[in-house]
Amino acid sequence: MRLWIKNPLAILAEDAGGGIVVEDTRIVELVASGRAPSAPVDEAFDASRHVVIPGLINTHHHFFQTLARAHPKGMDRELFPWLMSLYPIWGRIDPEMFRLAVRLALAELLMSGCTTAMDHHYLFARGLEDAIDIEVEEARAIGIRAVMTRGSLSLGVSDGAAPPDHCVQDEDTILADSERLLNRYHDRSEGAMTQIALAPCAPFVVGLPLMRQSARLAEKHDCRLHTHLAETKDEEAYCLERFGLRPLDWLEEAGWMGPRTWLAHGVHFTCEECERLGRAGVGVCHCPTSNATLASGFCKTRELEAAGSPVGLGVDGSASNDSSNLMEEVRHAVLVNRLHYGSASAVTHRDALRWATEGSARCLGRKDIGRIAVGLQADLALFTLDELRYSGAHDPIAALVLCGANRADRVMVAGTWRVVDGVPPGLDLRALVEAHSAAARKFA
Ligand code: ZN
Repeated sequence: MRLWIKNPLAILAEDAGGGIVVEDTRIVELVASGRAPSAPVDEAFDASRHVVIPGLINTHHHFFQTLARAHPKGMDRELFPWLMSLYPIWGRIDPEMFRLAVRLALAELLMSGCTTAMDHHYLFARGLEDAIDIEVEEARAIGIRAVMTRGSLSLGVSDGAAPPDHCVQDEDTILADSERLLNRYHDRSEGAMTQIALAPCAPFVVGLPLMRQSARLAEKHDCRLHTHLAETKDEEAYCLERFGLRPLDWLEEAGWMGPRTWLAHGVHFTCEECERLGRAGVGVCHCPTSNATLASGFCKTRELEAAGSPVGLGVDGSASNDSSNLMEEVRHAVLVNRLHYGSASAVTHRDALRWATEGSARCLGRKDIGRIAVGLQADLALFTLDELRYSGAHDPIAALVLCGANRADRVMVAGTWRVVDGVPPGLDLRALVEAHSAAARKFA
């Protein structure tokens, strides 16, 4: 089956004005303006109303938090008090609520143009031992590419940390389950639809032994490592007081300073630390909306990229965003970074789109996604510009970001349309919202 996505209004790729040809799961040809594909096609999709970009890749999220959006207990607080208020509420989660949260977050991401979703799930309350299995099942059902991380909490209330004790697991249980998931789901082949990464939650809720064991396991199974780091000044003060180390030195102690690792946030690194991260090839998932909502600070995106670190983009959990819209995140990335650098040209719409595509792919260690190029997976997001908000726009790619695109008309994952006319075919959105809202009431 050869499909020609024909004559797009605009496309984020070089020399592809005439569109692209997709065969099975891959992009096999870029067609120059005014030209036709070099060989016959079975079908042509008229993209003359569409702006075509590589599918967006989300590199940090907590799906379960979609059940705690705009929650009065979490609003208007910074990270530590926000966590202290919400952990006891999150502890009430059950498997049915969790499945709905996952389904809703995946649908929301996909409809915003995201073709690869990651989740950092660390709550394994009783009954939720198969949380990652549920995530994989739901991702396969909706057809999105998935990198699910086996998160963990090894310190709870009785250790002086915030998580309720019933959500905390011992290190042996965490490591055994990590290995089970890697054996069962982690696909290292090109075009993989499901991958697993290991993700102890943060320096204030896991110990160094678990970090070190996770790094060994990642080496054995060739998977990525992920954690929250340098998100807030409070975290920095905690690490200095508790370990006598800055967060990055703690990471180094854990044996995580290598190209397998990508970090969420990376806000409070010094310029010298950015250099160290770049030299080690550690990636950083920039979460501008979450960092603004919790007033955590500004990520040094330019310094990190200049040092050689992959910089990706993430919506973060929906209780600190409070949506899961990756295309909106691209816009916020432009705005937040311009404020940070005090310069309107410091970060452009193309920079932010690059973070959400190529940069995120590099964070995940993927060479087969993140760009529109021959041989790469056919992961695409197509937006129309016929809403009021775009009328009068001149540059169609810039219009997506600057006018605030937030819903794709079509999304293709591995050569298959997973969003058609703005919705995932076969998904009853109204029923999903009703069931998810009802489940969220248990967090009231
Ligand atoms: Zn997070």
